[in-house]
Amino acid sequence: MTGPRDEYRPAAPLRPVLRTRESAYAYECRACGRCCHDKLIPVNPYEIARLAANRGLSTTELIERFTEEGVALAVGDDGACLFLGERGCEVHPDRPLVCRLYPLGAVTDPEGRELFVELEAQPGSEGRAGADGTVAAYLQAQGVAPYLEMAHRYRETVEKLVRALALGTGAAEAAATLRGSVDGADARVLDVDLALAGLERRGLPLPQRVEDRVRLHISVLEAEIPSLSA
Ligand code: SF4
Repeated sequence: MTGPRDEYRPAAPLRPVLRTRESAYAYECRACGRCCHDKLIPVNPYEIARLAANRGLSTTELIERFTEEGVALAVGDDGACLFLGERGCEVHPDRPLVCRLYPLGAVTDPEGRELFVELEAQPGSEGRAGADGTVAAYLQAQGVAPYLEMAHRYRETVEKLVRALALGTGAAEAAATLRGSVDGADARVLDVDLALAGLERRGLPLPQRVEDRVRLHISVLEAEIPSLSA
């Protein structure tokens, strides 16, 4: 069961501390699972492809069964993420970026600098924050590098698509299309397996590795750009 998105509680309050990768920081997760409740966990096509591979599903099936319209993880009636099992996160090696960063969040300041904010802990959480490490070491331990790279690449591609749409159809329609994608009305373009199925039907061999499939998906999206702006 999934709940309507407006039932999600707002994100936890932010502590007014901005950190860089060099800042002192440490966090010990004790896998109590409390942080996996009442959260809006956004997912991009790379994260969906990783989760789908973990579960042995196509991205289309994963989107249908475990997400809110392909843009955020679905939750159950109790507010718990559908991947939270009795022994913790059942997709831990392939959990999304937000789960890896938590309780940090990545932000970009007006000058384009990468910064990190800290979220208030979920009430009752057994996790412990400290200062005997650095943000950089924490990020490395959480394996965020490919997630940050793919998030950046999809953001760039979507921005290009929107600019092309604005040229081809007018700014108002482009904005409406972007809203549609973000809200899920046209989230099918972000379904990796669906997007690649057309290539397969034409007899083109498809890569098996998630990273290679995702890079091909980005190429497919970018190939649309000239026709949109024509
Ligand atoms: S994907 Fe895993 S870590 Fe993230 S909210 Fe769900 S159960 Fe928790």
